[in-house]
Amino acid sequence: MAAVDFALSPEDEAFRDELRSWLDEHLPPFLECETEAVGDSGTDEGAKLSSQSSQRRRAAWQRELNTGRWAAIHWPVEYGGRAATAMQRIIASEVMAEYRTPGMFNTNGIWQIGPMIITWGTDEQKDRWLPSILDAHEHWCQGFSEPDAGNDLANLRTTAVRDGDHYVVNGQKIWISTAHLAKWGLFLLRTDPTAIERGAKHEGITAFIIDMETPGIECRPIRDMAGEEMFNEVYFTDARIPVDCRLGGEGEGWMVAMGTLGFERVGIAGQISILGADLRAMVEAARSVNPGALADPVVADRLARAWTEIELARLLSLRALSRIIKGERPWPEVQFAKLQWSALAQELAELAVDLLGPAGVLARGGPDAVDRGKWTRLYSFQRYSTIGGGSTEVQKNIIADRAIKLPGQARLS
Ligand SMILES: Cc1cc2nc3c(=O)[nH]c(=O)nc-3n(C[C@H](O)[C@H](O)[C@H](O)COP(=O)(O)OP(=O)(O)OC[C@H]3O[C@@H](n4cnc5c(N)ncnc54)[C@H](O)[C@@H]3O)c2cc1C
Repeated sequence: MAAVDFALSPEDEAFRDELRSWLDEHLPPFLECETEAVGDSGTDEGAKLSSQSSQRRRAAWQRELNTGRWAAIHWPVEYGGRAATAMQRIIASEVMAEYRTPGMFNTNGIWQIGPMIITWGTDEQKDRWLPSILDAHEHWCQGFSEPDAGNDLANLRTTAVRDGDHYVVNGQKIWISTAHLAKWGLFLLRTDPTAIERGAKHEGITAFIIDMETPGIECRPIRDMAGEEMFNEVYFTDARIPVDCRLGGEGEGWMVAMGTLGFERVGIAGQISILGADLRAMVEAARSVNPGALADPVVADRLARAWTEIELARLLSLRALSRIIKGERPWPEVQFAKLQWSALAQELAELAVDLLGPAGVLARGGPDAVDRGKWTRLYSFQRYSTIGGGSTEVQKNIIADRAIKLPGQARLS
């Protein structure tokens, strides 16, 4: 069997070194300067303050990254990116995780919506919207899911009916992250309702960029089990959307949305890098707040397993990446990597709380909460990892269908 070569090319090494020296120069002053008012998330007002200050911090960090052209590295150079390869995106994720950089303000905009606009937008649309995504002055959200369209996204039914130089939108979206903070949203809407009856539900879907302040749009935040109100129901009642806000042609929405799947596929590698950094950080925190736990052989065994599994997930995602680079279909490796990551994310959150002892369960905002309550929050928040980005059951179906080729009746559906 041929040996696997994990060495970086000289260009990739130079890319990594350039990013590291940029972070060495810019991250410490950024962290020193920021004055973050940490709200007490035990109260509604505290939760709001904490969320606002976290958004301000993300916006400031994204702007800082953008000064060095590190915010949207996969965008073409003419739009402020670096035309980074898939490998360089993984390297950047790993380096950012190693430095524990703050999150970005427009994650959806940078990773998914911007590339959709670059691929499908007119020159006017690119000039109008790309700078606002990149410079973090306006927030963006992504509105795909509906009450009956989650994993089965093509079942979406929020309608957009042409009326002169507008479309009139009616219906409901759900689980839309940060819609209440967003000025703009990329939405998938149904312009041909007959497509569902015709049994061709992937047809008749159109992508729109929507100004969230348009009359007839109402966001109702949903409180999640971590106590945060970050996602929303979004209701449309006769909202009038100008025709020039349509991205791509009528009926091309499915292609617009799926065209960026490659970006999401690589994204999982970044999430895995964060798990490795989290594991190191939780051990560090345990050394100061609950050192006895580290001497417990059961905990030591769980730590060793977690470390090994993170490495396994990293190798799976690299294998998927090598298929993407060769222009091959990256399944089932992508599904394996997603399953591995989501199970691990939950395991690690549970391990953190056990490792940190009583201090590990103190609520966010409390004076003695470890790392400002990050681990307690993750304990409940990580439940999302087996739902978002394709649920566990659906990933297993894909593996059963395409990799193992099980007969239909043996699948989960
Ligand atoms: C934290 C978070 C943030 C989100 N942010 C956004 C956002 O910004 N924008 C957006 O558009 N959406 C967002 N979503 C929604 C997300 O995309 C959906 O939750 C996801 O697609 C699953 O859809 P659903 O919740 O409708 O579940 P469903 O698809 O209804 O699934 C429910 C259950 O049934 C199972 N199931 C479904 N189909 C099958 C099948 N064929 N075989 C076997 N089992 C099946 C699923 O595995 C799951 O356990 C977010 C979700 C979360 C958790």
